[in-house]
Amino acid sequence: MPQTPGIEADVVVVGFGAAGACAALEAAGGCDVVVLDRFGGGGATALSGGVVYAGGGTRWQREAGVPDSAEAMFGYLRTEVGDAVSPGTLRAFCEGSPEMLAWLERHGVPFHGSLCPDKTSYPSNRHYLYYSGSELSARNTAPPAPRGHRVHGRGTSGKVLYARLARAVAASGARVVRQTTACGLVTDEAGRVTGVECRTLRGGPAWARTGHQVLHQWSAKPWVYAPKLGRVLHRPVAWLERRYGRPLRVTARRGVVLAAGGFVANRPMMREHAPGYRGGLPLGTPGDDGSGIRLGSEAGGATAFLDRVSVWRFLSPPPALLTGVLVGADGRRLCDESRYGAAIGEAIMTGGKGRAWLFVDRATVALARRQLRGPALWFQRFQAWYLLTTARVSAPTVAGVAARAGVDPAGLAATVDAYNAAAIQGGNDPAGKPAELVRAQDRPPFSLIDCSVRPRLAYPAPMLTLGGLMVAEGTGQVCRADGAPVPGLYAAGRTAVGLCSHSYVSGLSLADCVFSGRRAGRHAAAARPVSTVST
Ligand SMILES: Cc1cc2nc3c(=O)[nH]c(=O)nc-3n(C[C@H](O)[C@H](O)[C@H](O)COP(=O)(O)OP(=O)(O)OC[C@H]3O[C@@H](n4cnc5c(N)ncnc54)[C@H](O)[C@@H]3O)c2cc1C
Repeated sequence: MPQTPGIEADVVVVGFGAAGACAALEAAGGCDVVVLDRFGGGGATALSGGVVYAGGGTRWQREAGVPDSAEAMFGYLRTEVGDAVSPGTLRAFCEGSPEMLAWLERHGVPFHGSLCPDKTSYPSNRHYLYYSGSELSARNTAPPAPRGHRVHGRGTSGKVLYARLARAVAASGARVVRQTTACGLVTDEAGRVTGVECRTLRGGPAWARTGHQVLHQWSAKPWVYAPKLGRVLHRPVAWLERRYGRPLRVTARRGVVLAAGGFVANRPMMREHAPGYRGGLPLGTPGDDGSGIRLGSEAGGATAFLDRVSVWRFLSPPPALLTGVLVGADGRRLCDESRYGAAIGEAIMTGGKGRAWLFVDRATVALARRQLRGPALWFQRFQAWYLLTTARVSAPTVAGVAARAGVDPAGLAATVDAYNAAAIQGGNDPAGKPAELVRAQDRPPFSLIDCSVRPRLAYPAPMLTLGGLMVAEGTGQVCRADGAPVPGLYAAGRTAVGLCSHSYVSGLSLADCVFSGRRAGRHAAAARPVSTVST
């Protein structure tokens, strides 16, 4: 029988996105590291907005003259993070945050302190520091500070984040083996993970490798913005893998780090764990097929928070829409409209069963139209234009607009009356919206803007999965249901439970990838090497 070809290393990292790159960088100081990726690397990280959640007095916060402390950051994040990680781990994350950003900068990732003046879903190319969560809404709990550090680069800057990390990994001496899919884990008699079974296009025909690379690149953006087209374009990529993939065994003397993203692209897994989220737009790549989570589970790892999905519903830009009133089909208020888009999405999914409308008056629509001329990226402009035109119905009375949209008129009237009364009495809003955003919606004609979570090209509801393999918070080692670690196996990023597994705010996933990737890489590299005779 011909032997399966093999590669040996101290640490093997599965997945070359932010988490995998950070794991590789930490492990490479003194260790032989191999990184595997099914495609060319980059994953969701390279497509992302490149916002990293950081605070506690980062260099860029100081340059922007923004006061912040680890305590204030901890106070706010505690309200978002819930029980996803222990208070001790959250505190360590907050206290280490300025250093984490400095570490990224040392590896070539650029940031900037230009502060965004408005509350927005994503800052324009002029601004790189902004309120990326619900800090202002939670100001009674913790002093707010802008902590969304967008990587410096035009457009969605995740591509810069990935490119700089990839360059640093190449300089570190780690070997990156592309077009190689991890299919199974190798364990020894004691149950320790000692390697990875793969299918690789390495050594396959050059045309097949080029085709795989080019077709995957072509399908990456459609996969996010027009999923049906993306799936069609991706079919030949999967075929090439099946047809020309060859077995490869990669042996790990010290440990394997699973950093293969989440499972938003795995429809059976989504149906099983998050059946209510069918109207959302899967935010990720074909690599988010849950294979990292599956590999860890097969080795005995337990999972958690698989039902937690972040679905985004941004109302701003234009910021004027934040003064509106978000209601469900029964006309009842859903939440403070100035909260972060994922919190609004959660309120729509839980309180509105996926359906929601924003009630605004003539003055708000007029101001929102004027604000469209301000700084915004193309997709934000397009979305705002859609909300103010196609998604909006209007009528001279509250009852009339309710009837046009199919919202309960009595419920809507009661909600609008209560809101307007709060605005007239100084902005003490029952839903807790900051007073400066509570403006009476009392000038006819009135409008209801459809913000429901359903498939729409112009106003998609992007979603990503937050749960994954349970890990020991001190080391990143994958844990069994009883808490015992699976020897030799680590997980990071969206393959693992992390800081954002309960609730996502912009930047917290990438920040968690850096935090958990570094932790896993460091501990895998420090593990005692084993003899690599495997079963
Ligand atoms: C459009 C968009 C915008 C976003 N904006 C932000 C933002 O601004 N801030 C933020 O915090 N988050 C953002 N997110 C979410 C964030 O990008 C992801 O949660 C994060 O990048 C996940 O990183 P990761 O390292 O866990 O996985 P990925 O970056 O997806 O990397 C996983 C890698 O593993 C590879 N892989 C998968 N399976 C296998 C296998 N079996 N064998 C080998 N390789 C495999 C994949 O090819 C991929 O390259 C955004 C996401 C998208 C799509």
